[in-house]
Amino acid sequence: MYHFERGKILIVGAGLSGCTLGRILAENSFKVVIIEKRNHIAGNIFDNLNFNNERIHKYGPHLLHCSNNSKALKFLSRFTEWVKYEHKVRALLSDGRTTPLPINKLTIENIFGKSFANEQVTMKFLDKIRNKDLIPKNADELFESSVGNKLANIFFRPYTKKMWGVNPKELSINIGARLPVRTNEDCRYFNDSFQALPKYGYTAMVEKMINHENIEVNLNTPYKKGMELKYFHSFLSIPIDEYYDFKFGHLPYRSVLFEDRLECGNDLEAPVINFTDNSPYTRKTQWNLFPNCLNVKGDLKTITYEKPCSLDVNPGEYYYPVQTANSKEIFNSYKNLSRNHKSITFIGRTGLFKYIDMIPAVEIHIRLANRFIKKINNLK
Ligand SMILES: Cc1cc2nc3c(=O)[nH]c(=O)nc-3n(C[C@H](O)[C@H](O)[C@H](O)COP(=O)(O)OP(=O)(O)OC[C@H]3O[C@@H](n4cnc5c(N)ncnc54)[C@H](O)[C@@H]3O)c2cc1C
Repeated sequence: MYHFERGKILIVGAGLSGCTLGRILAENSFKVVIIEKRNHIAGNIFDNLNFNNERIHKYGPHLLHCSNNSKALKFLSRFTEWVKYEHKVRALLSDGRTTPLPINKLTIENIFGKSFANEQVTMKFLDKIRNKDLIPKNADELFESSVGNKLANIFFRPYTKKMWGVNPKELSINIGARLPVRTNEDCRYFNDSFQALPKYGYTAMVEKMINHENIEVNLNTPYKKGMELKYFHSFLSIPIDEYYDFKFGHLPYRSVLFEDRLECGNDLEAPVINFTDNSPYTRKTQWNLFPNCLNVKGDLKTITYEKPCSLDVNPGEYYYPVQTANSKEIFNSYKNLSRNHKSITFIGRTGLFKYIDMIPAVEIHIRLANRFIKKINNLK
């Protein structure tokens, strides 16, 4: 058992990572204080209904996908019901047509003006156009080896360049590895057996998660150096480089500007359309095409355009850690330094300097909470 005289736990950041950790600690009798610099909970998965009764994800569309037997899913299902939703994305081509993404049989047929009898024929064609012998060492080479130069030039190179602000040759291979390439006609964005949206939105889900007698939440409360001294242990979902005053240099992040536009006219051909051109925008989202959005038949619909940018343009909005050999080295220096501070643990996307989807974020922080509880109980 935890001894209350040892003090409370501080969690900085009311995102999914911090709130998952907070809930598990609270259920194990820890008194938890969560502070959050923004005026809302849920971090980057925050959503709300706008004036037009559309459920908007303020920080970009968030799609939940995992296996049916995921532990994280079981945990989240305590706080929400789900609406089945299999995400679809199409890419806008230079001639105005759209085509399925990830690349599948139909995409290859559209681009090369061909028609394939079956999957095997498609696979044979793909093997002919891709650079099979290349052993990729970076994202650019991964594109070339998996789909060949023509498809890479349309779907991956310009998109990746504007998304990350660097040449794909400088990006590590795991950035390109996220998109599957298919030779069948499956137009779903993800393969996972469970794909859904929370019935009343992500914010309502997180609200229930932190609704516990042992959890206190303070919004509009930025972390200040030294706050952690008053607590038994602190979990910080803040940028690790910022905590250490950028001693080893800045860790690079990509940010995004979201532009909401009210538009009328035909629905988009999929809830998300990716741009393949050299414009500054990467994608647009029509919110009322998601099944947990209330305004399903409105004439005016909100379409959100995403424009990736540097942190200088959108200060404090750390979205995507840019993983390069150099940034990994810098992060490891901070990580080693943090090992000397036994009463703090860095958590979340910016504490771990790692892009993590929602399900992995929950999994990682369930594990972290359980390890912490075990350690404390062993101190008895
Ligand atoms: C644009 C975008 C799209 C995404 N799409 C998907 C998707 O489709 N599917 C999916 O599974 N995942 C997606 N993700 C990932 C998902 O957002 C994260 O897995 C999830 O939000 C968990 O994040 P977190 O709690 O670690 O960090 P965050 O959500 O960033 O939470 C950290 C919190 O800490 C607060 N904070 C930071 N510094 C301080 C400070 N100094 N003082 C006080 N508070 C502070 C922040 O304000 C924030 O609320 C996406 C992420 C981004 C950026």
